[in-house]
Amino acid sequence: MFRTHTCGELRLDNVGEEVILTGWVQRLRDKGGMLWVDLRDRYGITQLTMEEGITPASIMEQARALGREYVVKVIGKVVERYSKNDKIPTGDIEIHVDKIVVLNPSKLPPFLIEDETDGGDDLRMKYRYLDLRRTPVRRNLELRHRMMRATRDYLNGIDFIEVETPYLIKSTPEGARDFVVPSRMNPGEFYALPQSPQTFKQLLMVSGFDKYFQIVKCFRDEDLRADRQPEFTQIDCEMSFVSQEDILNTFEGFIKYMFEKVKGVKIAKLPRMTYADAMKFYGSDKPDIRFDMRFVELNPLVKNKGFKVFDDAELVVGICASGAASYTRKQLDELTDFVKRPQIGATGLVYARVNEDGSVKSSVDKFYAPEDLQTWATAFNAKPGDLILVLAGEQDKTRKALNELRLEMGTRLGLRDKNVFAPLWVVDFPLLEWDEDTKRYHAMHHPFTSPKLEDVELIDDRPGDIRANAYDMVINGVEVGGGSIRIHDRRLQEQMFRLLGFTKAEAEAQFGFLMSAFEYGAPPHGGIAFGFDRLCSLFGGSDSIRDYIAFPKNNSGRDVMIDAPAPIADAQLDELHIYMKPVQNK
Ligand code: ASP
Repeated sequence: MFRTHTCGELRLDNVGEEVILTGWVQRLRDKGGMLWVDLRDRYGITQLTMEEGITPASIMEQARALGREYVVKVIGKVVERYSKNDKIPTGDIEIHVDKIVVLNPSKLPPFLIEDETDGGDDLRMKYRYLDLRRTPVRRNLELRHRMMRATRDYLNGIDFIEVETPYLIKSTPEGARDFVVPSRMNPGEFYALPQSPQTFKQLLMVSGFDKYFQIVKCFRDEDLRADRQPEFTQIDCEMSFVSQEDILNTFEGFIKYMFEKVKGVKIAKLPRMTYADAMKFYGSDKPDIRFDMRFVELNPLVKNKGFKVFDDAELVVGICASGAASYTRKQLDELTDFVKRPQIGATGLVYARVNEDGSVKSSVDKFYAPEDLQTWATAFNAKPGDLILVLAGEQDKTRKALNELRLEMGTRLGLRDKNVFAPLWVVDFPLLEWDEDTKRYHAMHHPFTSPKLEDVELIDDRPGDIRANAYDMVINGVEVGGGSIRIHDRRLQEQMFRLLGFTKAEAEAQFGFLMSAFEYGAPPHGGIAFGFDRLCSLFGGSDSIRDYIAFPKNNSGRDVMIDAPAPIADAQLDELHIYMKPVQNK
């Protein structure tokens, strides 16, 4: 290589050595008689020093002409620094420069390429290759790399084999819209990009592969939020001859290994919670259990006391925020505004403070006697200084809203520390989900998920009550992975498609290949997939998965750096047999 050392490597031990470094000029300080340059590469920053009387004048002059982000090669001697910098690992030494070679000059970058930058999001996305030079951004990708490696080490260590599956396939029903690719050689026909390799990994089980994994791109054409990308990465896994218990144990081992290897954090045995309990006590199938604050239902305590809002409500349910009784009127108004926001949709908020003397003061004292309010305090196990917050209304909506309020209170009370990790399994998901719009059942996970055998008899009368052998891993309120034991029997699979409203012909046309495979000795099997980008952002302590993707897309699904998507030439369209309707507003 051009260099003898990297910019992050030299220490006091190297003093006296003649070295060659290469890198980018991060900044230059010119004090007249003295000149300093911070030289940066992937490994760190090394200070170059030039001094009148020691450094030849021609080199001083050459250095003065360097601009930010020039690529240079420097030859010099390692010396001990007079004033050391304990903030960087190379801070004990500097380089007395003997020669500078400019390998490539640079235009002035559009934003500061330093840990703290002045560049806004859009600008940094447009010049993502420059943003990636910044240490915090680079560190995110280094974390991603370490996680990928640890994943492969763990799975390889227990006999999983990595098999690639195709990207040009037929639609997989994971519940989102497909991205499609026209086929030139098959006019009028399209491939779909996989929403996941689901059917392929099941076919690999039929092929006898037994333990499969793949770190794989998946594509879903969904509306985007900060934690979603149209293309994202899964750690996709499947195993044969396993029960749900085997899968939970294998991947509990995986997550423990990841935390230990990558973060040095030991994780205790993962608690398990049924879907029904998660909804009942947290109003969410991905509860954040870093803190307690469980829901308490109040219906029997609050009805028929003349308070119409509670009397008319299907559900009255609340949480108890420890130590929050001191909340001011203004803070309580803020919380009321919070729950009334259209995204949350509650109509109001009732509160009750438990005073130091144990008495309870509520916003609905008009309707409830002190003894009534005491029964509330007892129900919540509330102590002096606690604040009880209550919502009322239609079941599902109220639980959802209270989940948001619980998380908000958790944040306000500092109970959601990013460095605390509370993983759990949520199990026993319903097999089906009723969709009001289409007036039919959808698979809650996907149509290949096996019902619990003991629930199969409900299939005709109460299909909505059938539980599935499906599970999610949740960490700090984020669903990091999910999977299921699969159907491996043609008849049950056909029955499932029927339940989901497929005609026999439709099921055959879309999934005949899988159902045929089941007739040739399909082993019992099941699996799971982890959202790798999310796992990275969780480990890295960020809310956005974009920070962990080298070249992410923005909220409109655009890559603003390469400017994609983009129109294609008429000749290309002709070749693909595509006739474009004129696009409006373009
Ligand atoms: N294919 C599923 C998903 O992407 C995961 C699984 O069932 O293994 O969510």
